Amino acid sequence: LSPVPSDLEISRAQTPKAVEVLAKEIGLLADEIEIYGKSKAKVRLSLLERLKDQADGKYVLVAGITPTPLGEGKSTVTVGLVQALTAHLNINSFACLRQPSQGPTFGVKGGAAGGGYAQVIPMEEFNLHLTGDIHAITAANNLLAAAIDTRILHENTQTDKALYNRLVPSVNGIREFSSIQLARLKKLGINKTDPNALTEEEISKFARLNIDPSTITWQRVLDTNDRFLRKITIGQAQFDIAVASEIMAVLALTDSLVDMKERLGRMVVASDKNGQPVTAEDLGVTGALTVLMKDAIKPNLMQTLEGTPVFVHAGPFANIAHGNSSVLADKIALKLVGEEGFVVTEAGFGADIGMEKFFNIKCRASGLVPNAVVLVATVRALKMHGGGPSVTAGVPLKKEYTEENIQLVADGCCNLQKQIQIAQLFGVPVIVALNVFKTDTRAEIDLVCELAKRAGAFDAVPCYHWSIGGKGSVELARAVRDAANKGSRFRFLYNVQLPIVEKIRTIAQAVYGARDIELSPEAQSKIDRYTQQGFGNLPICMAKTHLSLSHQPDKKGVPRDFILPISDVRASIGAGFIYPLVGTMSTMPGLPTRPCFYDIDLDTETEQVKGLF
Ligand code: ADP
Repeated sequence: LSPVPSDLEISRAQTPKAVEVLAKEIGLLADEIEIYGKSKAKVRLSLLERLKDQADGKYVLVAGITPTPLGEGKSTVTVGLVQALTAHLNINSFACLRQPSQGPTFGVKGGAAGGGYAQVIPMEEFNLHLTGDIHAITAANNLLAAAIDTRILHENTQTDKALYNRLVPSVNGIREFSSIQLARLKKLGINKTDPNALTEEEISKFARLNIDPSTITWQRVLDTNDRFLRKITIGQAQFDIAVASEIMAVLALTDSLVDMKERLGRMVVASDKNGQPVTAEDLGVTGALTVLMKDAIKPNLMQTLEGTPVFVHAGPFANIAHGNSSVLADKIALKLVGEEGFVVTEAGFGADIGMEKFFNIKCRASGLVPNAVVLVATVRALKMHGGGPSVTAGVPLKKEYTEENIQLVADGCCNLQKQIQIAQLFGVPVIVALNVFKTDTRAEIDLVCELAKRAGAFDAVPCYHWSIGGKGSVELARAVRDAANKGSRFRFLYNVQLPIVEKIRTIAQAVYGARDIELSPEAQSKIDRYTQQGFGNLPICMAKTHLSLSHQPDKKGVPRDFILPISDVRASIGAGFIYPLVGTMSTMPGLPTRPCFYDIDLDTETEQVKGLF
């Protein structure tokens, strides 16, 4: 339709096929799905065992240039591309997307199901609770927070003996260690299985974690943009948005239930008074966390507007975590599409952040090799990089953005060229997808495609899926198919065995274009501590603004000759990465004066949601 109706109206105008029908179409057996309502199902991991001999399909990443705060359409391109591949080129394909946080849904950005005629339906189910995975993460995260707090309290108020007697109680005259406690004894080097045989010194060692409260890094979480919670301090800990929980990053990077349990147990929450790491396993809570996460680990099956399959699974914060959907969803989808099929997955933020983390963190964890990268660009973002006025969410775009301006586009293409070069560092062919808006002119579109090809893109094509659906991106689909079949020479950017500082410097210089890095004393001492604790060989997850290649959001285009300041360094040991903070990063966003929730309502007669976008 023209003009294109709202995302919610489009979503509602299409009746999704029953999820059982979709599951059957893509080759799932009846006992491999768990149905939630009419149009969502969880897929059981047993499928991986059944299909273990099936060759994987082609693996394609959608990333973007440095965006405006409005987003340039990565999710929309991901959905448009699979619609084009499946419904118009007859190639099996799957989209793998992140589950959005409710923070932005009710805040500024709105939902993340794609948009226009390229979206996941029903979009309100996608954008709201889905199947409860984020709630499970919140519950698990906060149980661990309570476990830390309670342990400190009890250790402070009880003698060694009293603590020990409560931790290993006598039931009907019999005392036994639980399996978690036996593992802790082993870790402590106490080779005993009889609770009555421990010496006083061993009892003290076993019963006390001696957590140093000033080192607690574990926060409480809630999936609401609630600025007030930034000010609430519980002991040493505060509140984060739920998707910033390390448990979300664990969910996104794990590849099995066994692995998830190990990762949850490895999560470091503080140091003890001797500077040794204290883990969830030390607190005895690994099993309970795994129980809370046992359903969340199964990917959620939904469909696009054109009835093609989608997995929506995990949505780690793209700044302090790696911002990519789950390894498990990608792995299952790669089996389901078959050798000739395509799996299209998306990385949050610009390619300098999301794509770099996709390659260096996610692909390292999964062992999967990507075949092609789609780099999403828009004329409006390029104009911003060329010197156009600032773009703010909720404020109408200035005329530079709504009228033809070839000079701004030409000047801004430096950002696109740089992001193409970044993708090429990893040896993967790049296709530029120019996501066309109705105000873009022919001359602007042709110029972007021409400059992208000159910068070394395998191909560069305009895409119209937002206004007309999959048929508007057939040219993109053909280009992606050809690039993926050409074969990639994928390589990581750095060796994980390098010292932490060297890895950070490599990313800063090769990817962001910095002259060098500068570490604060705090950052240097954390690096020393993590290295000494044996965590020096993890990959790096930079926490940097997505609005510039540099650390300063107002520096557009390709900033040069800057020194990247590293203010602090933190670690997510269970997820498996070290994250340096470039400047300050808010892990609890706030709401604007007029949040999206002003427009969100329920028609109490029809029970239909209104106002989501
Ligand atoms: P990203 O994933 O890069 O953050 P999205 O795909 O979520 O971006 O798109 C951001 C917003 O822009 C969505 O509301 C979407 O509907 C809208 N949008 C995307 N592409 C177009 C387009 N070509 N024309 C108009 N609006 C678009």
